[in-house]
Amino acid sequence: MIVYSVKCANGHEFEGWFGSSSSFDREIAAGECACPECGSTKIEKAPMAPAVSGTKGSTSVPAGCPMSGASEAPPCAGSCGCFPG
Ligand SMILES: [Zn+2]
Repeated sequence: MIVYSVKCANGHEFEGWFGSSSSFDREIAAGECACPECGSTKIEKAPMAPAVSGTKGSTSVPAGCPMSGASEAPPCAGSCGCFPG
């Protein structure tokens, strides 16, 4: 089984369970999936929120740190993130 977020022609969003992605297409085309709120069978897949992966740039050295690239612990003790240890 696979669950899709779907949306009817009237903008009601709900989750629909389908046997597979191909049966989703078939059931939608056949009008076998109806909106639980208004009964519309004009259903389309709702846009999925894009997955957001890790914080970008977490390992970069902050601009302006005078000890950027130093091999020893800088005066700031890495509190600004410029020294990974
Ligand atoms: Zn609806």
